[in-house]
Amino acid sequence: MAARRATKTTKKRTSKSSAKKSPAKKSTAQKTPAKKSSGGSVAKPSKKVQDRATEVLRRLKSIYPEAVCELTHADAFQLLSATILSAQCTDARVNMVTPELFRHYPTPQALSVANVGHVEELVRSTGFYQTKAKNLIGMAHAVMTRFGGVVPHEIDDLVTLPGVGRKTANVLRSVVFGLPGLPVDTHVGRLSRRLELTKEEDPVKVEYALHALLPPQEWGEFSLRLILHGRRVCDAKKPLCVTCELADVCPSSELPRASMARSAGSRRPAVGTARRRH
Ligand code: SF4
Repeated sequence: MAARRATKTTKKRTSKSSAKKSPAKKSTAQKTPAKKSSGGSVAKPSKKVQDRATEVLRRLKSIYPEAVCELTHADAFQLLSATILSAQCTDARVNMVTPELFRHYPTPQALSVANVGHVEELVRSTGFYQTKAKNLIGMAHAVMTRFGGVVPHEIDDLVTLPGVGRKTANVLRSVVFGLPGLPVDTHVGRLSRRLELTKEEDPVKVEYALHALLPPQEWGEFSLRLILHGRRVCDAKKPLCVTCELADVCPSSELPRASMARSAGSRRPAVGTARRRH
């Protein structure tokens, strides 16, 4: 999801009533296993990495106190639709398109029987509009036929919907349902590696590595804050280490160690040598 702020946002844990309506019974809210079937084995993090993760979590909360989803939505169906549209597209662009989409198709039932050509026209400006229109209608049809018209909250159910991957499923869980969910996009993956919270490249393995480092109730907002930091400070090509408030704890900082020590003073923990890594 993009980082620009929309006019209407929904914070975590504000729509628990939606979760209660879900037909799914099994909760994964407190699952933080060391091993996951799809993510493979996750080694227990060292104390040094754990301490760094805890400090990064603390600082990101201070730097970005407001961690909100910036896709305009009123319920799980709308956020699911908007998140499908956000692939390869900014939140701002999606937020321009969805009001008209939801005016024509306010419910899964309405969207499930929509004319694909009409939906294509409505979402054309978000790019990949033919695939997105097909996925939107397919998602709505699946919600109607397999989940009684209610968007499910279990990841295993969500990822069976057309156009919905693990990242989107975790957005739904953390933003709408108030459940643990840690979406890993390109920013979250890059920053997690630069901060040496993990060496994994695969997004699912990154997600499980972060699960082992962070309390479940922090997963969703940690992801949102890393995305903000990736967009504003830790750019893929030109990270602004000189102004970064994580520089003294970041092993990939480009700042000389002496410079970091001066700026951080006595609070700087031993976190390894400063070097850049992408
Ligand atoms: S110090 Fe540099 S590499 Fe590390 S998080 Fe900050 S901007 Fe990114």
